[in-house]
Amino acid sequence: MEKDIFCKIVDGEIPCHKLFEDADVMAFLDIAQVTKGHALVIPKQHYDNFLSTPSEIMHKVFDVAQRIGQIDIQFLGAKGVNILTNCYEVAGQTVNHFHVHVIPRYEKNEGFMLEMKAGSRNNLPIIAKTIKDNL
Ligand code: AMP
Repeated sequence: MEKDIFCKIVDGEIPCHKLFEDADVMAFLDIAQVTKGHALVIPKQHYDNFLSTPSEIMHKVFDVAQRIGQIDIQFLGAKGVNILTNCYEVAGQTVNHFHVHVIPRYEKNEGFMLEMKAGSRNNLPIIAKTIKDNL
């Protein structure tokens, strides 16, 4: 199977602006900077997305994302941060390798905007039961 672009970055076949690396996790700047400092944090081993990543590795990725978010505020002058991970194409995932976006925010209406519109009314008791019964 063809390696995805982040596996190639991990293997040093594609350059990146590396921020962090240890045995399990790597972080680098996103090539398309939505805002100044937009970073990606990934597991070095391939997992398709957040949902299929083992818990221990997922936590290590988020630990690094948290630290980068703190640094964005302390040292880059960000006033806020969006931490985001897309799972599957319908949710905006374009690279099939688990990654967490850390997007520093300097102003409300720049670069990244997340809008949540209330959808059609659903049967909340049935939805809640479906999720609750499977947790
Ligand atoms: P997503 O749409 O959540 O899958 O995000 C994938 C992200 O990977 C996008 O923000 C891209 O800009 C970023 N990206 C793709 N190729 C590279 C690369 N070679 N180096 C750094 N970031 C990349």
